[in-house]
Amino acid sequence: MEKLDEIIEKADYCLNCMAKPCTTGCPLGNNIPDFIDCIKKGDYKKAYEVLNETTVLQPICGRICPHNKQCQGKCVRGLKGDSVSIGELEAFIGDMAIKEKWLIEDEKNIENEGRNERITKNSEVDNTNANKKIAVIGSGPAGLTCAAFLAKRGYKVTIYEKHNKLGGLLRYGIPDFRLDRDVLDKQISRILDLGIEVIYGKKLGKDYNLDYLRKNYDAAFLAFGANISRKMNIPGENSNGVFGGNELLETGNHPDYKGKRVAVIGGGNVAMDVSRTVKRLGADRVYVVYRRAEEQMPAERKEIEDAKKEGIEFLFQHNVVKVKGKEDFDKNKDADNMSGQVVGSIECVKTKLVHKDGDDRLVPVDIEGSNFGIDVDYVVMAVGSEAECSVLNQLGVRLNKWGYIDVDENYMTSMPNVFAGGDLIGTKATVAWAARNGRDAAAAISKVT
Ligand code: SF4
Repeated sequence: MEKLDEIIEKADYCLNCMAKPCTTGCPLGNNIPDFIDCIKKGDYKKAYEVLNETTVLQPICGRICPHNKQCQGKCVRGLKGDSVSIGELEAFIGDMAIKEKWLIEDEKNIENEGRNERITKNSEVDNTNANKKIAVIGSGPAGLTCAAFLAKRGYKVTIYEKHNKLGGLLRYGIPDFRLDRDVLDKQISRILDLGIEVIYGKKLGKDYNLDYLRKNYDAAFLAFGANISRKMNIPGENSNGVFGGNELLETGNHPDYKGKRVAVIGGGNVAMDVSRTVKRLGADRVYVVYRRAEEQMPAERKEIEDAKKEGIEFLFQHNVVKVKGKEDFDKNKDADNMSGQVVGSIECVKTKLVHKDGDDRLVPVDIEGSNFGIDVDYVVMAVGSEAECSVLNQLGVRLNKWGYIDVDENYMTSMPNVFAGGDLIGTKATVAWAARNGRDAAAAISKVT
C-alpha cells in the first residue's frame, strides 16, 4: 500500500503537458502523459494498454533505460527541480501486468474461431499474415520487440537464439543486480505467449546460413547484436590477464579476482557493469580509466554514482598506452610478441581536452611526458564493441564504411526481404533504441510480405 501511495504521488507530480516533451525524449515514443494520467485515475490496466501500443519491454525499460538522458531529460518538471519518475512508473505498470497476467496482445486483436483471423487496432482485418513465416535472429531488445510486434500482426514468427535462454544483451550484457532475472524471464515468457516459436542453441553462420533462411521464410530480421569487445591496439594488449568486458559479462567466465587489482578501460555502461561485477566478485581495487572528463562519460549518471558508492576508483582524463608484464617483458618486443606474458601493470598518460574542427565533443589529447604506471593484475577492455566479423562477412549483405550492416530507411539490407537492426546497424547503444528498431522493422516487414 505504501508503494502504491508513493506511485500515485509520483504520478500526481506530472503536469500532463499537451506538447508531450517526455514522449519526444523516449526512443520508443511511449505516450507518457497518457499512461501517467491513467495511473492518476487508478486505471492501471488502461495505463498498461497505452504503453503496450509502443513497447513490449515495460518492466525492463522502466528499470534500465538511461531515463535522465531520454524521457526524464526532457521532462518540464526537470527545469526547476526533479523530473517525473517516468521509469519507476513504467516499471510499476510492467510489473503489475506480469502479476495480473494482462496479455501483451492488443485487446482488439481477436482470434475468431476456426478462421485464424485477427482484427488489428485500426480495425483492419488481417487474415493473411498467419501463413507468412518470419525468422528473427537474436533475442535481445531488437529481436524480442520485432518478434512481438510481428506476432501481434498475426505472423508466424520463429526466433533463432544461439544460447539456451532468450534475452541477448538483456541477459548476457546487463548484470542481474541491474536487471532482475525473474522479471526478465517473466516478460520473455509473456512475449512468447503471443505464439512465437524458438529454436535454441543454433548460431547463424555455423548451424544455418542466410540462404537457408531466405528459402524457408518470407523475411528475416537480423538482430544478433555486436558483442565482441573492440581492441585498443596498444602494446601488450594480448597479454594473459587482458579480457574483453563484453565477453566477461556474456560468459561469466571470470578469473579469481580475490585480493587483485583490476583496471577497466572505458566510460560506458559496459565499463560500469563490468567494474561493479569485478568488485562484487572480490577484487581488492578496481580502477576505471577514461580518456575524457567525468561529465562526458557515456555511462548513465546513476550507474557512475552507484559504481563510486561501491568503491570503484575513477581516473578521468587518463589514457592507457601500454599493458606491461610482471617481468619487464616488453623491452624491444612488439605487441604481438607479448602474448603469453602475464599482466603486471598499465602505463597511463594524462590527457587534456581540446576543441577540434568537425568534432562536437572535446577531444582528448595525450600530455607528453605525463606517463606513469599502475600495478594491476587484470585489464578489462570496455572501449566499445563490434559484431563478429566472421559471421558478418559470410552473410553477403553490404556493410557500411564503419563495418555495420547497411540498411535503408525501412531497415532492409542490400538483400531483398532481409532486414537488420540494433547494434548490427550501429544504432545508438541503448535498449530502447534497439527496441525501436525492432518495432519499426516489424512494420516495414509487414509492408513487403
Ligand atoms: Fe509529465 Fe514531465 Fe511529461 Fe510534462 S514532460 S507530461 S510533467 S512527464
